[in-house]
Amino acid sequence: MVIFCVFSLLGTAARFLLVALEFDMLGSGSSGNCGLIKTKDAVFLIDAGFSCKRIANMLAERNTSLDQIDAVFITHEHTDHIQGLRGLRKYENIKFFANRDTAEVIEKKFNFCIPWQIFTTGERFSLGDLRVDSFSVPHDAADPIGYVFSFAGRGGGYIKSIAWMTDLGYIPSHVSRDVAGVDLLIIESNYDNDLLTLDTKRPPYIKARIRSRYGHLSNEAAINFIKNSSGNQWKKIVFAHVSADCNSESSIKKLLGESGMFKFEVDIARP
Ligand SMILES: [Zn+2]
Ligand SMILES: [Zn+2]
Repeated sequence: MVIFCVFSLLGTAARFLLVALEFDMLGSGSSGNCGLIKTKDAVFLIDAGFSCKRIANMLAERNTSLDQIDAVFITHEHTDHIQGLRGLRKYENIKFFANRDTAEVIEKKFNFCIPWQIFTTGERFSLGDLRVDSFSVPHDAADPIGYVFSFAGRGGGYIKSIAWMTDLGYIPSHVSRDVAGVDLLIIESNYDNDLLTLDTKRPPYIKARIRSRYGHLSNEAAINFIKNSSGNQWKKIVFAHVSADCNSESSIKKLLGESGMFKFEVDIARP
C-alpha cells in the first residue's frame, strides 16, 4: 500500500508561506494554543493561550510584533486558549472577537473588561480580506466554537481557507460539513488511548472528562474522521492540541501509517 503522506514537524521555525492566507501555529497543546494568520492586509491570532510576553516572543521570532495584530478570535474560555488576554487587552490595535457567553465567562474569570466584538455563533462577518465563519463544537465550555477563515480578497493562492477545530469530544455532522471545503484543516488529536490509560498524573474523573463527548478528540477519532470523510477538499492537515503527557508524534504517525493512503500533507503541531 502506498502512503502519500508528507510529514514536516511544525516547530517554532516552520511555517506555511502562502499567497492568500499564511498560517503559522505559534504553539498548540494542552498548556496553550495560539495560531497566526496573515493576509495581504492584516494579521490575526486564533486564541491567545500563552502569556502575552510569550506570544510577543513567538511573534518576534517571525518578525511580527503585537502592534501589528489586528484581531484575536477566541474559541472558548479555557485557560489554554485565553491566558494571553490579560496583557493583550492593553493593545488598542487589537480587536477581540468572541460570542457572548464566552466573553461573559472570560470577564468573570479574569475580573476585568475587554472591549469585545461580539458575534453570534454561525453568523458570517468579514474583517478586511478575511471572511470569518464559526460553528458550535461539543466541549465542556459555555459556548465553544471552531472557525473557518476564508480569503475574501482578489487573486489566488494555494491555501485560501482554513478550519480550526480543537477542543471537541466528537465531530458532529454539521462540523464535518463546515470543514469539508477548506484547504487547510487544523484538527485536534489530543491523546493516545493507551497513553491516557497509563498516565499517572490525571485522576480517573479527569480521564473520563477527556474521553467524554464534551472532552477532547483522540488520535483514533481524528484519523478515522479524516479517513472516512468524503467530498473534502483538504490539501494540508495539521494535528493540534496534542497532549504532552498522553500522546506522542510516533503514535499519531503509526495510526496514520495504518490508516492507508493519504493524499494530504500532514503536520503535527508542537506545544
Ligand atoms: Zn484546549
Ligand atoms: Zn477546552
